[in-house]
Amino acid sequence: MSAPAACPSPAAADRAAVRRPNIRDLSLGEIEERIAELGKEKYRARQIMKWLYQGGATSFSQMTTLAREFRTRMEELFAIREPEIELVQRSEDGTKKVLFRLSDGLAVESVLIPGKNHWTACISTQAGCAMGCRFCLTGRQGLKRNLLPSEITGQMTMLRRHTPEGPAILNIVMMGMGEPLANYENTVKAIGILTSDHGLGFSTRKITVSTCGLAPEITRLGKDICVNLAISLNAPDDRRRSELMPINRKYPLAALLEACRDYPMPGRRMLTFEYILMAGVNDSPSDAAKVARLLKDVRCKLNLIAFNEFSGSPYKTPSPEAVSAFQQVLLDNNYTAILRQSRGRDILAACGQLSGKFSGDPAASPAEPVRPQ
Ligand code: SF4
Repeated sequence: MSAPAACPSPAAADRAAVRRPNIRDLSLGEIEERIAELGKEKYRARQIMKWLYQGGATSFSQMTTLAREFRTRMEELFAIREPEIELVQRSEDGTKKVLFRLSDGLAVESVLIPGKNHWTACISTQAGCAMGCRFCLTGRQGLKRNLLPSEITGQMTMLRRHTPEGPAILNIVMMGMGEPLANYENTVKAIGILTSDHGLGFSTRKITVSTCGLAPEITRLGKDICVNLAISLNAPDDRRRSELMPINRKYPLAALLEACRDYPMPGRRMLTFEYILMAGVNDSPSDAAKVARLLKDVRCKLNLIAFNEFSGSPYKTPSPEAVSAFQQVLLDNNYTAILRQSRGRDILAACGQLSGKFSGDPAASPAEPVRPQ
């Protein structure tokens, strides 16, 4: 009689799970293709998606509407992995900043912003960022890597699990770490899962992709998927925008605005231009008048944000009077120009500050962490 096969150690099982592809990196169509190779019908793929994104399944053994041998085969072929919540910080204003640890040890962050009866989730699409915007702490880290679709959607499934009661998460803004359109394929695949009836079921109207201005990818996005678009503008002319945002040297304002004008926005939807006001750099009334002229033939609104200073930053927060005067010029020119408060200042809610702290960036000053619940 032969000896029974030894059970793999938990560490060996973990290593095997890491080697297997993560089913959460696959779209519905890709799952359909893989299970067709096993002789299974398409509707089984929809069942798997619902277990993953609506049933909260963390193993195939929990998918009890599938036959036992099919579950076993799927377990052999695929892993189910999600990013882990490592820390949650709560701001006095109710904002929560969540630090995720990825399977290779890198950290990314999401922010939950409270509304009247809902949350808005701000999620990351890259670990670090290659775009090098001068005012941004994430830009200082450089790009570590693109996030996988499972790591983008995983932030949302984990945030939903973190907020089981009370208001729902209604809006998603891809405005955390990274440039979403520089991780185009994975971002679009993740949006497909976020908006699928078999996935997380968000409306495309509730998802906003924020970009620093990758003009060709803006055009491509408009053809592939119809979500809201926010463009980080931050300067009224090419000279200053190129200084603040190196991407402007490759895609100057004329190319960027042409892509914006062609971006399809159904119904009454408008593009959003984000404008971070920095004292003495881009915050004068004449700068506001230039912005008004620049955007005159683009259907858009503006979000104005006073720069959130961090230790060692070269820019300063403008005075409230300067911000009001800037806003007033835009209002006088019939723009919707909303002054956005920088949320969660006390918990480092400026882009990249929490993960910067955990990667040892001295510019990210410490705050008291709260363990996840
Ligand atoms: Fe990257 Fe956005 Fe920061 Fe620019 S502002 S460096 S695009 S994360």
